[in-house]
Amino acid sequence: MSQLKHAASYYAASAHPQPARPELNRDLDVDICIIGAGFTGLSAGLFLAEAGYNVVILEQAQIAWGASGRNGGQIVNSYSRDMDVIERQYGKATADALGAMAFTGNQIIRQRIAHYQIDCDLKNGGLFAALSHKQLGHLVAQKALWERYGHTQLEMLDKAAIGQAVASERYVGGLVDHSAGHIHPLNLALGEAAAFESLGGQIFEQSAVTQIQRGPRPCVQTAQGSVRCQFVIVACNAYLGDLVPELAAKTMPCGSQVVATEPLGALAEQLIPSNYCVEDCNFLLDYYRLSADRRLIYGGGVTYGARDLAHIEAVIVPNLRQTFPQLSHIQIDYAWTGNFCLTLSRLPQMGRLDSNLYYSQGCSGHGVTYTHLAGRLLAQAIQGHNSQFDAFAKLPHHPFPGGRLLRVPLTALGAWYYALRDQLGI
Ligand SMILES: Cc1cc2nc3c(=O)[nH]c(=O)nc-3n(C[C@H](O)[C@H](O)[C@H](O)COP(=O)(O)OP(=O)(O)OC[C@H]3O[C@@H](n4cnc5c(N)ncnc54)[C@H](O)[C@@H]3O)c2cc1C
Repeated sequence: MSQLKHAASYYAASAHPQPARPELNRDLDVDICIIGAGFTGLSAGLFLAEAGYNVVILEQAQIAWGASGRNGGQIVNSYSRDMDVIERQYGKATADALGAMAFTGNQIIRQRIAHYQIDCDLKNGGLFAALSHKQLGHLVAQKALWERYGHTQLEMLDKAAIGQAVASERYVGGLVDHSAGHIHPLNLALGEAAAFESLGGQIFEQSAVTQIQRGPRPCVQTAQGSVRCQFVIVACNAYLGDLVPELAAKTMPCGSQVVATEPLGALAEQLIPSNYCVEDCNFLLDYYRLSADRRLIYGGGVTYGARDLAHIEAVIVPNLRQTFPQLSHIQIDYAWTGNFCLTLSRLPQMGRLDSNLYYSQGCSGHGVTYTHLAGRLLAQAIQGHNSQFDAFAKLPHHPFPGGRLLRVPLTALGAWYYALRDQLGI
């Protein structure tokens, strides 16, 4: 069978060399089997291996082949729905529980990098950039809200100050999160995989799970082998396909596109003197940052239903040039797409299907930090510590209106409406 290799991204081209990892071709019996070697699977695997469990991760392609190895690399705190909406929709107790964990994923990433000495180009600082005064007003409110949940490393920037941080005329101001940051996501994942393996964990690549036989001692099957275990964790996110239809029905895979320019040399520091990662405040947002070798990595352009775009550059480069007209002559070296999972509530979905079948999915675009938190909560729940896991698990998981047939056009229509409001500044 043909092998699934990493997308032809800047990250794949600059990944640290890796040992060959085997395909599963025998029958194993372990404590825990995790399906999917993205951040969710790796984070859960590492927490469980640290706790002394015998864990196997099965990956259909290569480590972090999905969103985790292709994303913008932005360490963004909190969730895709902000805390005020969570308060209004789910009440104060739920908001307090989720709010207490809103900055934990970031801390886990930094602990992992420090403890296992993971070389993944970590840089500090993230900037939310406002394109209108209405957006700036939202950032003022977001700052106050996050401060209520104990976050203290936030700073408002006016137009002059944001101009010092990013050399773009587009913004009227912004909010810096000094505790945010950016990383080479594939190298972070590869470092976490190596840490997991150093504790006895096993990862099998090119080992697509074809079936999960549920029961008191589940059996996870691939084309050439199987893993019998006490617990299964499904961590396939937007690449789940039909493996677990009841999970697929609750989310919508969406594509996001990223380009990496040629190395910009000294121009890079003029472009983003702060070296922050940046995302704007539009509903269909643009996000960008510098790589360690001084390329601009610029993403955006959501496709609902995760269609593969034929011309990624044609979607992303006009926005890039609008943000940075000074880059009109710059060459694009890499362009790639990746899929993330949208949920109707924009909140992640974590839970159990059976007492021994766990899942987490659907971080709706901001998943680098949440997936690391999810790994910890899944591992805690398997060890019988459920209180933080349950704060997520009890959130309602509504299916998209229109079912599989109509969810894409209906959601695209809704997004078009919000994008139009952003364009009109209303
Ligand atoms: C282009 C892009 C840019 C993004 N930028 C950011 C960002 O800057 N900041 C941020 O916070 N978030 C960002 N995100 C979101 C973030 O990357 C994701 O939320 C996160 O990586 C999801 O991790 P995951 O482990 O849950 O899923 P994934 O990383 O997608 O991993 C799922 C894995 O499961 C495997 N799999 C699926 N089915 C099977 C099977 N049957 N058998 C075995 N293996 C299977 C897949 O091959 C895949 O490797 C971005 C997403 C995309 C797509």
